[in-house]
Parts: sequence; structure tokens; C-alpha cells
Amino acid sequence: MTNLLTHDGDAPEDAPGNRTGGLPLAPAGFTWPTCAECDRPLQFLAQLLLDDDRRLLAIFQCANDPGLCDEWDANAGGNRAYLFDNQDLRPVPAPGGGETGLGAVSAIRTEPPAEDDYDEAIAAWAARTGRSRREVLGGIGGEPSWLQFDQTPSCVDCARPMRFAAHLEEGRDSQTAINLGGGVGYAFRCGQHLRAKFLWQR
Ligand SMILES: [Zn+2]
Ligand SMILES: [Zn+2]
Repeated sequence: MTNLLTHDGDAPEDAPGNRTGGLPLAPAGFTWPTCAECDRPLQFLAQLLLDDDRRLLAIFQCANDPGLCDEWDANAGGNRAYLFDNQDLRPVPAPGGGETGLGAVSAIRTEPPAEDDYDEAIAAWAARTGRSRREVLGGIGGEPSWLQFDQTPSCVDCARPMRFAAHLEEGRDSQTAINLGGGVGYAFRCGQHLRAKFLWQR
């Protein structure tokens, strides 16, 4: 089943749980990631709760040279995703020297489980609520709705295909928007290791 994630107003930059923008919550000793292509700090996009709130998925990508750092690729180093145990996490201050934050912090409402098909779930939600599809910020669970071919990545620890975790959307307006080239983001995680990856298609 898919749980759609929808815009739910503003949030503090260090709010726990699901949100886009703000500062990442991470374990002690976490170092803000940098881009493998341009060596500047990545932009924090979103954090999402998984496994009945026991894990926190954190997603970053490069926003310093849009389109030039392979930020859509799961393995090129133009983005990074992390899976943390959701305990003893703290906000990580943003470093200087790059585009590190979105223009706004969005709270997220987790909608009740819906159709397994992500696109059908969005259509049904928009029809039921009368709200714009752009208010959908993504979805947790279900199956990936690929815009192109299947690009399921592999875990760096066990080399097995990763499990789909979440869709991520660009967002509702220019202030909060994540740059996915007009496409959709896909987050994956390993079922056994604290590993995650992110990619997008258009
Ligand atoms: Zn870069
Ligand atoms: Zn693994």
C-alpha cells in the first residue's frame, strides 16, 4: 500500500518526523555530505519516517550546478540518502559554501493507505479532496511508478537489489520546490542494512 504524503502547512526547521526542507536530523558525528562532482555541500531535501517511525530516511542532492552533477543518478555522488535509527538525532547546522536548503519548510500529512498504484492513489486523493496534485509531496511504500525503465539500485553492503521506500515530488510552488527536472524522485533502502539511495527520472 501507498501512504501519500501531502503538504500540511509550515514547519520549524528542526521539526521531527516527515517534512521537506529545514535542517536534517542526524546522529552525533554526522558530517553534512558534499557533491562528488563539484565538491560543494549538498542540499537537504526531505526526511521521511519508515518502519513504524523506527527509521528516518534523509535525502540530499546537489543544487549548486543544476543539471551538471548527475544529481539524478543513484550512484554518481550528486545525491545522497541515509537511513538512521530514529533515536538520539539532532539538527545538523548547514555549512556555508553552497545551496544547502530549500526556500521553505513544509510539514507533511501522512494520508491513510491507498491504492498500490501511486498514480491512481494521487488521482483518487485529488478527486476526493478537490486539492491540486502539486500538494502531494510524495508517498511511502507501494511500488515505484517508473517514468522510464526500472532503475532499482543495489545495496553497497550486500549488493542485493534495494527495497523501494518512497516517491518524492517537486512540491507545490517555487519557494518549496525540489528540483527533480520536472520528474519524480525514488528512494530505496536495504532490508538488512542501514543503507539508502535516491534517484530521479523525468
Ligand atoms: Zn555538485
Ligand atoms: Zn544490504
